[in-house]
Amino acid sequence: MKAAVWNGPYDLSIKDVPVPSPSQGEVLIKTKVVGICGSDLEIYDGRFKQSIPPLILGHEGGGIVHAAGEGVSTVKEGDRVIVECVLYCGKCEYCKKGYFGLCESGGVLGMMGAQGEYAEYFVAPEKNCHILPDEITWPEAGLIDTLAGPVYSIGKMDIPLDSTVAVFGPGPAGLFFCTLAKMRGATKIFLVGTREYRLKYGPQYGADTLINVRKENAVDIIREATDGKGVDIVIEAAGSEKALNEGLHVLKKAGVFMIYGVFGAGPIPVDVQPIQLYEFTVLGSSNINYPPAIKLLKNGLVNVKDLVSHTFTLEELPEAFSSGLIEKRIGNYMKGVVLF
Ligand SMILES: [Zn+2]
Ligand SMILES: [Zn+2]
Repeated sequence: MKAAVWNGPYDLSIKDVPVPSPSQGEVLIKTKVVGICGSDLEIYDGRFKQSIPPLILGHEGGGIVHAAGEGVSTVKEGDRVIVECVLYCGKCEYCKKGYFGLCESGGVLGMMGAQGEYAEYFVAPEKNCHILPDEITWPEAGLIDTLAGPVYSIGKMDIPLDSTVAVFGPGPAGLFFCTLAKMRGATKIFLVGTREYRLKYGPQYGADTLINVRKENAVDIIREATDGKGVDIVIEAAGSEKALNEGLHVLKKAGVFMIYGVFGAGPIPVDVQPIQLYEFTVLGSSNINYPPAIKLLKNGLVNVKDLVSHTFTLEELPEAFSSGLIEKRIGNYMKGVVLF
């Protein structure tokens, strides 16, 4: 079968590799879609040190069950499934507390400890497979993982009715945060970013005020609009030093600060004094929750298809990485999916 194999920094190519076979409790999936993730880029250029080449990348995909290993009972040949990428034992201290992403013997398909999904077929544990309802198309399914992160994170927060929220980072995850915060009862949502074309999606996703920090001062605007108090909740979904620090200066006393953005490039200077002085609660989030995300999509409560800005074939993938199309967000790039 053909697969996009990463052989080290800046080296991704299409190779012929054997079709994997499912072990006990695993299924072999004929790939139909894989979402392209920002962390694929971090692996590609060598920033993500836990990934060891040679590795088939890709971890946001699904397809049709082609064969089932011994003991598989919840899915069968022919089922449409979307696959959760986090591998977990279900037995360790963290798994027992529900923190599957923190599993002591865990991994991630296409990132750590297991081959990924940019291939004609891939293998995944049965317990990671979720049946995909007919209402959800394959391109839409490529965004379930992107939605499942904010769904999990929102579940960690209390968003009281009539609360105010500032979301930093108008990428797909930030936009989903806007929608979910509105559903939970927020009445005023500020969406803060640097790219106009991304901010423009805001109103459709529940954002009330759009702030482009290249032209405007987010701290001034948010403070002024909240009688100088700031917002009840800040969600940092940009992974940016500036956003993180601005977020800390627009949060109301006793507010909640969610760090969702990835700060993989190393330590950054942060003004921590407001956290202590104003009794902020800081939350981190790195996990996903698929079942509610699938249900939201099935019931049409979150629009994902408008965010699919680019589709690729498997063969086109190495060029999409090497050309900088994804990294530099050329052509108003929002989210790319690989279709098979
Ligand atoms: Zn991802
Ligand atoms: Zn575990």
